[in-house]
Amino acid sequence: MRRPGTDENNVQMTDVLCDFCRTQWSEDKPMIEGHQGSCICGNCLRIAFIDVLINKHDTGPDGYKCTMCLEHRDDPAWLSPMYDDAVICRRCIKLGSGALHKDKQFDWQKPAGADEDG
Ligand SMILES: [Zn+2]
Ligand SMILES: [Zn+2]
Repeated sequence: MRRPGTDENNVQMTDVLCDFCRTQWSEDKPMIEGHQGSCICGNCLRIAFIDVLINKHDTGPDGYKCTMCLEHRDDPAWLSPMYDDAVICRRCIKLGSGALHKDKQFDWQKPAGADEDG
């Protein structure tokens, strides 16, 4: 998300916040961008990955709209424990973690133990 009051024509790194923990983006933090400026940081993505893909939890509210892809989905999802308007669907968790995993700039590995097809 953008910090409230951000100049959309001149967005700075510090204007970009993780939707799920509101941590400010910085050079050393991996961050995945969704639609309309939504973002999830590597830290939240890791927690979401473990919760949904490994522990098979589903904390997505009924009829939720994913904060990242903006779609209403029936997939299991992860609800931010801090902000109940921030939800990420399983598909976005997989896509985001796949992208970060490949990104050599960051030492971000997919947590072990997920069954990739599940
Ligand atoms: Zn975060
Ligand atoms: Zn999604």
